Amino acid sequence: MEILLEGVGYSYAEDTPFEKRALTDVNLHIPSGSYTAIIGHTGSGKSTVLQHLNALLKPTEGTVMIGDRKIEAGVKAKDLRNVRRRVGIVFQFPEQQLFDETVLKDIMFGPLNFGVPEEEAERRARELVVQLGLPEGVLEKSPFDLSGGQMRRVAIAGVLAMEPEVLVLDEPTAGLDPRGRREIMDLFYELHRSKNLTTVLVTHSMEDAAKYADRVAIMHKGRCVVTGDPEEIFSNEEQLGDYSLQAPRSVRLQRDFEERTGVKLSDISLTEEA
Ligand code: ADP
Repeated sequence: MEILLEGVGYSYAEDTPFEKRALTDVNLHIPSGSYTAIIGHTGSGKSTVLQHLNALLKPTEGTVMIGDRKIEAGVKAKDLRNVRRRVGIVFQFPEQQLFDETVLKDIMFGPLNFGVPEEEAERRARELVVQLGLPEGVLEKSPFDLSGGQMRRVAIAGVLAMEPEVLVLDEPTAGLDPRGRREIMDLFYELHRSKNLTTVLVTHSMEDAAKYADRVAIMHKGRCVVTGDPEEIFSNEEQLGDYSLQAPRSVRLQRDFEERTGVKLSDISLTEEA
């Protein structure tokens, strides 16, 4: 399923004295089957964009197409449930949302809530536990008796159990050690590759963006300022080591970008903050 943001603007607390503009004229195409990384400073608008991808937020201006469903200001909340089922979001520190008595019940909760028969929900949970590299014995345990890394995997299984067509990942490796990070990132890549799962990764890590994504979108001050092929955007791998964004190799991209935004690319440096 593809997602298309056209001219999206968003203000928090609109029409109040606390109004805060978070997005301006964001145009972003997430093609079906792609792996898109969204990168940018804290406060650049990444989380706000992410919440538009499954209609948790509705744009103040412009439109968001999620598959064939058009989301715009004033659209009624009814049947957004179906959109949310099709686009799964793994929020930061998703283990904080675990709540049920056992891992099995926790993973089955979403599907059961959406009317998936019990037998099928259980089949999905059992399969996912194996796929995510958890021992089968965890199913009967309380999620709160697991290690941090295992809890994260259980929470991810809960999102995957809904069988989303688009998987959105918000800093999914925050707080994990380097090995845990790599394992989780490799796992998402494998899901993307084997199931052609449309994947959107919000990250601070240029390395992850360059390694896994086939498209990169850069957010800056509420605008999506560059989208393209990572190779075109990052000038070379050695320079990724210091996490600073080099000007695109392509002069055309750089010129287009500077004309469109009035921002000089050399003024943007994305610093690893995590
Ligand atoms: P990022 O995810 O890149 O850190 P956000 O999308 O969270 O950026 O934030 C974009 C802008 O919107 C920031 O200026 C932020 O302060 C503001 N913002 C985010 N959430 C809220 C909110 N709930 N109420 C008011 N302003 C917000």
